[in-house]
Amino acid sequence: MIVAIDGPAGSGKGTVTKVIAGRMGLINLDTGATYRCVALEALRRGVTLEEKEKIVELVDDLNIEFKHENDFIRVFLNGKDVTSEIRSIEVTKIVSQISSIVPVRLKMVDLQRKMAEGKDVIMEGRDIGTYVFPNADIKIYLDADVEERAKRRYKENMEKGINTSYEEVIENIKIRDENDKNKEIGALRVAKDAIIVDSTKMTIEEMADKVEEIINKKWER
Ligand code: C5P
Repeated sequence: MIVAIDGPAGSGKGTVTKVIAGRMGLINLDTGATYRCVALEALRRGVTLEEKEKIVELVDDLNIEFKHENDFIRVFLNGKDVTSEIRSIEVTKIVSQISSIVPVRLKMVDLQRKMAEGKDVIMEGRDIGTYVFPNADIKIYLDADVEERAKRRYKENMEKGINTSYEEVIENIKIRDENDKNKEIGALRVAKDAIIVDSTKMTIEEMADKVEEIINKKWER
């Protein structure tokens, strides 16, 4: 059983996925976190975005694992907990470009497919319903106005103690949207059989209720 939740940054994917995983007993897989690990390692090694071959090479040294604590995921990179570090501004600024490098994508997609093997999962990302699992049982595309998405991300950053201005956040989201929509492989787009949910005016509860209703309609247990 695979539930694919795709959509742009700040659309509510991460939050909804967590809530639904908890409510419905599904394994929560955050595919963005896998690309964030690659970006973090590139920063740690001082590899620049121009050095694409080095970035592709370093992927083979990475062991990325998710450990589930109830519905919360902790992300481990080579045995160390990087759950907070992968959300830093530095990582967020380069992750979209890192994830555009085709060999990096192919390796991460491989890993994401393995992580889901034999499990009932709710998987969030950009290309789950179109590329990673084109035969997913349920596909939802979560969207929201860019201003609303930036507001949410800004608030989240403040709560986590990440110091950014609203202007910086909206600028980064717009750049990532553009980059994500124009990827050679796994571009952000609505799968033809996806149900679109516009979360602009929805609370987290309302989003989760809507997604749960969609899943329940299709999933016979
Ligand atoms: O979801 P999150 O914001 O953590 O994702 C970080 C970045 O990773 C996105 O901006 C996108 O460029 C990339 N990504 C991707 N495909 C996915 C998930 C994330 O290209 N399935």
